[in-house]
Amino acid sequence: MFYAGHSSKGWPAYFCTMHKDILIVGQGICGTFLSWYLEQAGISYLVIDQLQANTASKVAAGIINPVTGRRIVKTWMIEEVMPFAHEAYNSLGAELGITAIEQKSIVDFYATPQMKLAFEKRYQDDQQYLAVPSDENYWRHLFNYDFGYGEIDPCYLIRLQDILPAYRTHLANKDLLREELFEQEHLQVQPDGIRYKDLTASRIIFSDGIAAASNSYFQNLPFALNKGEAVWAEIDGLPATHIFKKGFNLVPWKDNIFWLGSTYLWEFDNDNPTPGFKQFAHNWLLQTVKLPFKILDHKAAVRPATLERRPFVGFHPQYPAIGLFNGMGTKGCSLGPWFARQLVQHLQTGAPLAPEADIRRFQRILTR
Ligand SMILES: Cc1cc2nc3c(=O)[nH]c(=O)nc-3n(C[C@H](O)[C@H](O)[C@H](O)COP(=O)(O)OP(=O)(O)OC[C@H]3O[C@@H](n4cnc5c(N)ncnc54)[C@H](O)[C@@H]3O)c2cc1C
Repeated sequence: MFYAGHSSKGWPAYFCTMHKDILIVGQGICGTFLSWYLEQAGISYLVIDQLQANTASKVAAGIINPVTGRRIVKTWMIEEVMPFAHEAYNSLGAELGITAIEQKSIVDFYATPQMKLAFEKRYQDDQQYLAVPSDENYWRHLFNYDFGYGEIDPCYLIRLQDILPAYRTHLANKDLLREELFEQEHLQVQPDGIRYKDLTASRIIFSDGIAAASNSYFQNLPFALNKGEAVWAEIDGLPATHIFKKGFNLVPWKDNIFWLGSTYLWEFDNDNPTPGFKQFAHNWLLQTVKLPFKILDHKAAVRPATLERRPFVGFHPQYPAIGLFNGMGTKGCSLGPWFARQLVQHLQTGAPLAPEADIRRFQRILTR
């Protein structure tokens, strides 16, 4: 599309504008799957993402754990999202030529006798994702633990550290990525869509993680951002076959490197890693693992979490050209693929979004 404008010097200038069905802001796990399903649906798109080191998707461990909390209850929608995620990550991995997902089990060392009781009670009620070991001493040569352990099985480990850069290259090769900062002041809502600088699109969807909490269209939504930290430690001799949990999760990352985290902090001044966490992680390793270790790296990121722990998906009730795909909290790896496909189906066929996720549940707040 061509249109005439005027340069700052006053003479007419002709700009060439590019049109897409969807403009996506952000290539974390949400923007990745959103664009992936748009591509499969034949809906044109462009992704704008500024390279940042400490985004939630880059700092995350990548665990899909089917149970949660002290009472070890099943995670919301796990029966649907877990098999879906398995299929989604395998297909994405096949397209990118990488291993995107691995099946693991979690060795859950009970930190207290109460936790042992809670696990065993839950196991009696429902054994779908839980197992109790025949030999409680099995891990004693590698770990210090006092009250035994249970197993959570199966879990998945998502190789975000491989998926995100490989998908970025995939987008760049197809000329579908702009590596730049999206600046909201350049966004114009028009009767038939949006304009952003030299781009026009029928819709824009923000999958920009915590940035959405200060986006003027969505800042009134009940975000509950929380900060988490992790360290990466080299531990020779520890098998990469399991995720080991004792309060913190010790997660196989690559070769002899393990991810250890995390924390949940609702009040924080910045997203920097703190010396206090690093010391805590060091002590945890010293007390828990019976092998020498070396901490190699330490990062923090803020999770795009929501007050009622449900995602924010869909289009603004007053500005239907503006959409949000966000609010995955601690569960981006499992909820991201599922709701990305749901949002694309919604665009394609008008199929309804899950009411618990659809941002229209906040109609009053959003149209205030
Ligand atoms: C320590 C920690 C551990 C975690 N562990 C797990 C786990 O084991 N399992 C799990 O499922 N979840 C985990 N999470 C949560 C998970 O990380 C999030 O749910 C998920 O990554 C959110 O993805 P997202 O795509 O919405 O946001 P992000 O990953 O934050 O991606 C947003 C993208 O938008 C880009 N962006 C933002 N603003 C702009 C702009 N103005 N212009 C251009 N680009 C922009 C950013 O650069 C980024 O690439 C963890 C989180 C943390 C912090």
